[in-house]
Amino acid sequence: MAKKQFKAESKRLLDLMIHSIYTNRDIFLRELISNASDAIDKLCFLSLTDEKVGLDRSDFRIRITADKERGVLMVSDNGIGMTREEMESNLGVIARSGTLAFRDGLDPAQAEKAGIDMIGQFGVGFYSAFMVASTVTVVSRAYGAETGSKWESDGADGYTIAEFDRPEVGTDVILKLKPDTEEDCFSVYAQPWKLQELVKKYSDYVRWPIRMDVERTEKVDTGEKDENGVPRMDWKTVVEEQTVNSMVPIWQRSKKEASDADCIAFYKEKFRDTEDPVAVIRVNAEGMVSYRCLLFVPARAPYDYYTRDYVPGLRLYSNGVMIMEKCADLLPECFRFVRGVVDSPDLSLNISRELLQHDRQLKLIAANLEKKIKAELQRLMECDREKYEKFFRVFGAQLKYGVVGDYGMKKDLLTDLLLYDSAREKKLVSLKEYVAAMGPEQKYIYFASAETAEKAARLPQTEQVRAHGYDILCFIQDADEFVAEILGEYQGKRFCNVASQDLGLETDEEKAQAEKAQEENRELLEFVQKAVDGRVEAVKATRKLKSHAVCLSSEGEITLEMERYFHGMPGVDPKAMRARRVLELNLEHPAVRAMDQARNTDPQRAEAMARVLLAQAELMAGFPPEDPSAYSELVCTLF
Ligand code: ADP
Repeated sequence: MAKKQFKAESKRLLDLMIHSIYTNRDIFLRELISNASDAIDKLCFLSLTDEKVGLDRSDFRIRITADKERGVLMVSDNGIGMTREEMESNLGVIARSGTLAFRDGLDPAQAEKAGIDMIGQFGVGFYSAFMVASTVTVVSRAYGAETGSKWESDGADGYTIAEFDRPEVGTDVILKLKPDTEEDCFSVYAQPWKLQELVKKYSDYVRWPIRMDVERTEKVDTGEKDENGVPRMDWKTVVEEQTVNSMVPIWQRSKKEASDADCIAFYKEKFRDTEDPVAVIRVNAEGMVSYRCLLFVPARAPYDYYTRDYVPGLRLYSNGVMIMEKCADLLPECFRFVRGVVDSPDLSLNISRELLQHDRQLKLIAANLEKKIKAELQRLMECDREKYEKFFRVFGAQLKYGVVGDYGMKKDLLTDLLLYDSAREKKLVSLKEYVAAMGPEQKYIYFASAETAEKAARLPQTEQVRAHGYDILCFIQDADEFVAEILGEYQGKRFCNVASQDLGLETDEEKAQAEKAQEENRELLEFVQKAVDGRVEAVKATRKLKSHAVCLSSEGEITLEMERYFHGMPGVDPKAMRARRVLELNLEHPAVRAMDQARNTDPQRAEAMARVLLAQAELMAGFPPEDPSAYSELVCTLF
């Protein structure tokens, strides 16, 4: 039979699998059992609505068979099975799981290590069988199919696939174990005691019975008597099929029965993460709706998190039957990064998945989980700040979008979870902390927008605020200004953009002085306005600046930051979303004074100076010159 090649990425992974030294090859069994259990979940769910399945809940099982003499191990299930096409696409490709896509972002040395780490920690599913087997054979018959198929591979160069008779629906994964070597013992995986140990260690919570022939020694009466007339006893080995796992899912266990470490191990395996989650949330609720849940807040975003491919949701079980792999209705959008399991005996099972989405009980659970997640994040923020900041750097943007989304419906839930870079403290602060550190005379919560916190803290507009000793929040994410807009204020303190016209820092007297300066310098200001040829709405004298000559600010609703954001979006008319720009001049600055003098002696040179100053202001506000060479020539005319 002609061999088919594995897809390129699968081949690379296989190489890694076969040629690396694994400290943790034991995990292959867990992977096969977990696949078998998933396949049973699927058929069991079907059986609720489809009588043709013909199996009772109590009929489902996973069976492990070992043949010590031949060095063969088989994991069988009576789950949903695979069609020939499914075998080709599921067992011939691995990129789907995303493991390699993630690894490809790394350099080769890192990738090698990451690959090993990944396999070592949680395996890569089915492929891990090649760590212990020289040949892997999969015989499967899909539910509803007339016949079965057989897939076989020795790992290195492709696989074969052919029709194969299997009387019942389900899957057998058969491993021909590698021969033992001086360093490595593979035959141990055909020893019942070892297999039993592995099931207990890694797969005890699997909800379906894992059946195995277990050897037991028993004292038996030989029927003979010794010289004293006492019956002669002998030891006999009895082989008996037993269920070797306890079948109690980890989320059904108390804190005593399942430690946080156990839950974390479960998370890493089930949700394919190499890092410990930052939080484990357990809920055991009784009341209107009873349910148990085990939730995790990941420490890092899956590689596809901020793409359309990421599907949020919690695994939903009812009475131990998995109803949905990812039930999005259990999680509010703002917490879509949370992973985990919800199990409730109260959900009506005979309703379709669509109807389920509107289930009142689900809504109740969802509302409760929202509170629990919020409470846990708040606790982390207060009690384990380092961990919280780690979380926030990854998912903070999600929380901010959550404040802005749904017309601000979730703002009360989320506001106290937000953190911002503080320009003064050089660390992340919450709004509560910012306001608590405000003196009684500070009116506003000041913020400065830029690409990075360093750039925001150095904006010329911040000079006056800093001179007062006030802190400034650095807004560096797209959503930040929109969040400030939606919130309007925090604890009665309004937000104020340092780039806006009135920073509320001047006394009436100072304001009068500023107006006077504006009036006295009207000619100069008009001259500049004309020289920059309509590129700003207004030119004003400012007292905001100390060491800088100029800065750019905006009047009205649309800020410079919003303009930048909208211009990056497709389908937005750039003219409609333009900030009303104001060029602010520091009249005391030598550069501005030099320009003023040049107005009388060399007006052309003064015009060039005005245009250079505007370009400086734009540059500092993050708008580079549209025509850099023309700008460069302009600067050269001044020498
Ligand atoms: P993952 O479990 O992460 O999807 P695997 O490589 O372990 O990755 O398995 C690939 C796919 O092959 C599974 O998603 C499933 O569709 C299918 N599969 C594997 N084992 C079985 C099985 N015992 N019964 C039915 N389908 C299976």
